[in-house]
Amino acid sequence: MPVNPLLAKLENILGPGGVVSSEALSERATSYWNPAPTRALALLRPDSTEQLSQVMRHCHEHGQSMVIEGGRTGVVAGAESRAEDVIISLERMSAIESVDEVGGTAIIQGGAVLQTVQEQLAEQGFLFPLDLGARGSCTIGGTVATNAGGMNVLRYGMMRHLVLGLEAVLADGTVVSSMNQMLKNNTGYDLKQLFIGSEGTLGVVTRAVLRLFPLPASRQTAMVAMQSFDEVVRLLRTSQAELAGTLSAYEVMWNSYYRAVTEPDGHRPPMDRDHAFYVMIEAEGADPEADELRFNRLLEQTLESACIVDAVIPKSDAERRALWNVREEFDAILPAFLYDVSLPIRDMPAYVDGLSDDLRARWPAVEFQVFGHMADGNLHLFVNPCEEGVSQSDCDELVYQRLARYQGSISAEHGIGLEKRAWLSSSRNVQEIRLMKSIKASLDPRGLLNPGRII
Ligand SMILES: Cc1cc2nc3c(=O)[nH]c(=O)nc-3n(C[C@H](O)[C@H](O)[C@H](O)COP(=O)(O)OP(=O)(O)OC[C@H]3O[C@@H](n4cnc5c(N)ncnc54)[C@H](O)[C@@H]3O)c2cc1C
Repeated sequence: MPVNPLLAKLENILGPGGVVSSEALSERATSYWNPAPTRALALLRPDSTEQLSQVMRHCHEHGQSMVIEGGRTGVVAGAESRAEDVIISLERMSAIESVDEVGGTAIIQGGAVLQTVQEQLAEQGFLFPLDLGARGSCTIGGTVATNAGGMNVLRYGMMRHLVLGLEAVLADGTVVSSMNQMLKNNTGYDLKQLFIGSEGTLGVVTRAVLRLFPLPASRQTAMVAMQSFDEVVRLLRTSQAELAGTLSAYEVMWNSYYRAVTEPDGHRPPMDRDHAFYVMIEAEGADPEADELRFNRLLEQTLESACIVDAVIPKSDAERRALWNVREEFDAILPAFLYDVSLPIRDMPAYVDGLSDDLRARWPAVEFQVFGHMADGNLHLFVNPCEEGVSQSDCDELVYQRLARYQGSISAEHGIGLEKRAWLSSSRNVQEIRLMKSIKASLDPRGLLNPGRII
């Protein structure tokens, strides 16, 4: 086999174990969502920013396209490579470099896995509040690149709100170090925000300065059931008003979702399967006695007023995890087309019911489940047309055309990637897209980094 001169050079820079061959890659799945074998020229594993910078400089000189991967849990195919791409992985750059206990910040490398970061910081008394079902695989670099959301956005914001500074390597190997550690810093353009949510199209995020919070002293969790969407909204407002700012998660499951994941081969149903809505509600505070009293009073009052019709309160961490698994683990539903839309909360019932009618009219046997981060205006939809030969774009049309009536967004937290590119203009105007293209052209004029994503 002829030796690829670029790969030979990269092997030299990266040393033993630094390059994974295309043959070895073909034995692993493309991503969490795509079981097809990974296709790429090679996977590159730098162990420092300097090494990565050299690698990218050489790729740039050779016109070599580069695709960045983190934990490969992203939902819009952003990390999926073609046979002609090299993959850049930060799996050898996964350290927690330092923790500033006074300032409440940590410097973390881009390849660190979210759950490891959460656990190690908890041992030092800190909460890093970003949390999502993919926590065991997704990385800090990946969550920065996608501006991930998850369960605690209503209290702590998205990844964008948790990053104070970062370091990124541009397509030509230039290292941009913007490792600000302060909450306030108005010295010109906030460059880190360019990279957050840019899905790897502008640079590789190698390190980030993250905001930390005190580890909560108490946590109350419940799964509750309700009979109407009005009651779901009422409980949200009451919780926000009466839990003294401790509400940290409010996750809603429509009956269709709850039933699907609690079929006999799925999760054990914590409560009756006939309620219209189920909500995971969680509060985290600093005063265990007062917090518990307040939480229990809320549940009692809302049960008395029939706002909620059933409630399960876990008595141990294991019981809490089992409840959350109902919301977070949806393997029983897959394969299906997954959507991630946002729209005003008041319009959610009309949108879901209208879309359900549209889908059923097109595919009478369709399976349609709804759940999500309702308090953030964010719903996830699973659609399985249950018919041969239906493509995702057939389904996109129905989902997004109805969404346009409510000025909703086609991506609340998953990003655009390769999958939603054709629909970008339904959520962004011509001037916005033109500006995005000019930013991309200025940072990566040869279009080598994550080509074809977003714009
Ligand atoms: C079970 C499950 C639950 C999920 N729940 C949520 C949720 O609640 N909220 C949510 O927002 N998402 C959720 N996701 C989606 C996914 O976990 C997030 O998008 C996550 O941020 C992706 O991180 P990753 O490390 O896996 O990145 P990857 O999937 O590997 O990559 C995602 C994108 O980021 C780019 N990228 C990766 N690393 C870097 C880097 N270091 N520098 C620059 N670009 C990079 C890639 O090129 C790609 O475009 C879920 C996924 C699963 C499987």
